[in-house]
Amino acid sequence: MMRLPWFRHYAPRLLAEAARILAGEGPQAMLIAGGTDLLPNMKRRHQTPAALVSLARVEGLKNISNGSGLALGAGLTLSAVVHSAAVREKYAGLYQAAAQVATTHLRNMGTLGGNLCLDTRCNYYNQNYEWRKAIDFCMKKDGEICWVATGSKRCVAVSSTDTAPALISLGAMVRLVSASGERELAVADLYRNDGIDYLARKPDEIVTEVRLPSAAGWKSSYWKLRRRGAFDFPVLGVAAAVKIASDGTVEQARIALGGVASRPFLVDKAGELLAGRRLTDEAIAEVGGLVASRAKPMDNTDMEIYWRKSVVSSFVAHALKEVRGDDMRSTRLRIARQEL
Ligand SMILES: Cc1cc2nc3c(=O)[nH]c(=O)nc-3n(C[C@H](O)[C@H](O)[C@H](O)COP(=O)(O)OP(=O)(O)OC[C@H]3O[C@@H](n4cnc5c(N)ncnc54)[C@H](O)[C@@H]3O)c2cc1C
Ligand code: SF4
Repeated sequence: MMRLPWFRHYAPRLLAEAARILAGEGPQAMLIAGGTDLLPNMKRRHQTPAALVSLARVEGLKNISNGSGLALGAGLTLSAVVHSAAVREKYAGLYQAAAQVATTHLRNMGTLGGNLCLDTRCNYYNQNYEWRKAIDFCMKKDGEICWVATGSKRCVAVSSTDTAPALISLGAMVRLVSASGERELAVADLYRNDGIDYLARKPDEIVTEVRLPSAAGWKSSYWKLRRRGAFDFPVLGVAAAVKIASDGTVEQARIALGGVASRPFLVDKAGELLAGRRLTDEAIAEVGGLVASRAKPMDNTDMEIYWRKSVVSSFVAHALKEVRGDDMRSTRLRIARQEL
């Protein structure tokens, strides 16, 4: 049996109190929300925080409010996000991403904020302590070398959050609060392409809210590659959001990728390539090729890397055809093995 290491536990009820405790404890403290990522990691000694500051009881982190867009509290469970009518109706890509995270039980515990701050993953890292010790550990924790790219100075563990690419494509922002103030960042800017230092969040900052801009005129979609339909982390996530003008041409478009780098990222040229054009099969194939060229899957997750790269353009096509209004239900069922 894998046991948790010892830690001090705080359960504040106010955001200011949580921020104050986090700042006071310093970098040895970590936040815990649903614990579905952090607790298994602690059992494997990936993280051994001296103190945990729980967000579970903090007031105000579970709100959903409508303004011109939508504000989602970081403490909302993924199930709450999936069951929100506003998310389902206006931000289909986010709904589809959240609905494909893990299993129902994990979505009932796991939060939106925790999903955004999810640790990066790697076959050489997501193992128990003894397994990792047997290979003399690796750069991400307790060791010196990267077993995936032995000459690399940087850990190339993979960003495996499903909701982040969807939120990036939707142009969402996150609010970060600390004892010394607050700031807002585009979700895309929350991430660094570094498997160890993968967040631009400072250790004393709490992600409190995700703010989505108005969805008027926009349609969105998220497609995920994973081995098992029941549950699995993404080895590729493609999120597309497109604003169609009244004449049927693309006014604005954003395509984001997950599972193919240490961060989820926006493929900026994709939007430029589609702007002013109709979503024809030709335009979709062209942008699919461009997006695939930006995907750099590494040999540290499930499935063969060259194949994972080769399917990117098909996944882009699925996402854009769904946005275009094609009936993708049978393709979706074949790939996601669930109706979304
Ligand atoms: C079997 C299994 C399958 C899974 N499959 C998937 C999957 O397919 N896709 C996927 O995306 N995830 C998956 N997960 C990971 C996890 O369940 C989800 O990402 C979940 O949303 C994490 O949220 P949490 O609240 O449990 O995070 P926690 O475990 O509580 O925290 C995760 C990290 O985020 C930090 N954190 C939490 N909340 C905040 C906040 N508000 N501000 C700043 N930092 C914060 C914590 O300090 C920690 O570093 C899976 C997990 C398991 C065990
Ligand atoms: S990418 Fe390299 S350093 Fe990072 S977790 Fe994997 S083996 Fe370790």
